[in-house]
Amino acid sequence: MASTLPRLTLSPGREKSLLRRHPWIFKGAVRSVSGDPQAGDTLEVRAHDGRWLAWAAYSPASQIVARVWSFDRSQSIDAAWLRARLTAAVGRRGGELAHPSTGCRLVFGESDGLPGVIVDRYGSLLVLQLLSAGAERWRDAWIEGLHALFPQAALYERSDASVREKEGLPSRVGPLSGASPHGPVTIQEGPARFLVDVRSGHKTGFYLDQRPSRAWVRDHARGASVLNVFCYTGAFGVVAGLGGAASVTQIDSSSDALRLAAENLRENSLPAPDEGLLRGDAFSVVRDLVGEGRRFDLVILDPPKFIESKAQMAGGTRGYKDINRVALGLVNPGGRLLTFSCSGLLDAALFQKIVADAALDAGREARIVDRLFQGEDHPTLLSFPEASYLKGLVLRVD
Ligand code: SAH
Repeated sequence: MASTLPRLTLSPGREKSLLRRHPWIFKGAVRSVSGDPQAGDTLEVRAHDGRWLAWAAYSPASQIVARVWSFDRSQSIDAAWLRARLTAAVGRRGGELAHPSTGCRLVFGESDGLPGVIVDRYGSLLVLQLLSAGAERWRDAWIEGLHALFPQAALYERSDASVREKEGLPSRVGPLSGASPHGPVTIQEGPARFLVDVRSGHKTGFYLDQRPSRAWVRDHARGASVLNVFCYTGAFGVVAGLGGAASVTQIDSSSDALRLAAENLRENSLPAPDEGLLRGDAFSVVRDLVGEGRRFDLVILDPPKFIESKAQMAGGTRGYKDINRVALGLVNPGGRLLTFSCSGLLDAALFQKIVADAALDAGREARIVDRLFQGEDHPTLLSFPEASYLKGLVLRVD
């Protein structure tokens, strides 16, 4: 029986990362694949000497050619087993779910033992995002599992992330069950209300990962003039306003994002003057602000992922250094710069070095007074350090 299962055999020595329970198998580590598996099928993974290692989902189109479901040979990878994993992931968010209308990530892929599966909750709407052939293969299991866990919730699919192309998967967006949202849905986060566009917003609609940093901004904004660069739908601007900021200026290149940013301010009974929402390329708008002699007590820099692949390392590094250098020039002496990178390929130590170089070039002395990370609904499985992608430095700038 076992010999008829599709099998992936690794090249000699390439089993090391699997023995450390890292869930990815790269194309270059594979000696052979037998049994004619199709995309998304479950394979048994063996070392070159035949040692059994794992059950994994096959992604023939991708450089990551298989992703591990289980390191336990006695498990059978079927819909019931996968639904149990889904239930366990949701169970780990028990505390978060006590707040019925709050946005929260319920499933975070590899960190929840479910590679390629993302589920975000926006109040009574769940958004499913499938990113790998294995996740796609079991689509019905996720849908049925989510229905069983949240019988009242509507379900929407946002399987349109660009990584799906690497898996050879088409993009798929639309309602799966329940009413399709006609406009943005509203979530509550502490005292803040946010409008979330799940149909066409970034990711599944909102940067849920920045929740701890939003709390930081709310706690430190009182009386401050705040500049929110790469503001998207203005979440940091809202919490700055609610925290008592004296003024909030926000920059983004997307007019759709800025329109929702203005609505978000009004939703929270905060002023939304035109001059507080600047549309344009942040790299040139911040230079214009420097030229005008503008200064701020708190500058927030949360750029998009500048480094998507190793090939973008040099260019992305320059981008981070440049925008941080200019932004440092906008901080009042004694003020704060809150600077982020969400590029997983850029580790925290290198990011810190880039910011240090930027300060040197800007001629500003700065001190790290705090560090921020993605929230606890985006955990990092210890055997999968790649899950830690978001890092932020809070600098006091003199
Ligand atoms: N801070 C936001 C998330 C930022 S996402 C939040 O917490 O919700 C990055 C944003 O940068 C996106 O809204 C995108 O439209 C914007 N963006 C990308 N390139 C840009 C550029 N060159 N200039 C200005 N905005 C840019």
